[in-house]
Order: sequence, then structure tokens, then C-alpha cells
Amino acid sequence: MKKKTTKKVVTKKIFCTVCPKWEIKRPERCSNILVHKSKTHYFCTKKCKERFEKAPEKFI
Ligand SMILES: [Zn+2]
Repeated sequence: MKKKTTKKVVTKKIFCTVCPKWEIKRPERCSNILVHKSKTHYFCTKKCKERFEKAPEKFI
């Protein structure tokens, strides 16, 4: 049997940078966004954003 290696087009999921288990389901409506080194980071809460701002190296 032939194995098909079809690549599925996965819609990129966006997770909170501080707690990666937390999916940002509506990034377009997310107000906790921070651009760090030309990369956009999303956060589930303002607290997460503040934590990232204090020590971005810890999360990237
Ligand atoms: Zn978070």
C-alpha cells in the first residue's frame, strides 16, 4: 500500500506567548498584543502581556 504524504493545510493557531496552552481563538479581537522584534505576540490577558514586557527573553 502506498502511503500518501499529503500535507494538510493547517490554519495557524495562535497561542498566548506566556502560557502556550492558551489558544487565542480570535486574535483579531485580542487587545493584548505586543510587537517584539518585528514579531507579533498575543496574550490572553493583560497580566500575561505585562509579564512578557518585563522579561521577553524568558518567553521567546
Ligand atoms: Zn496567557
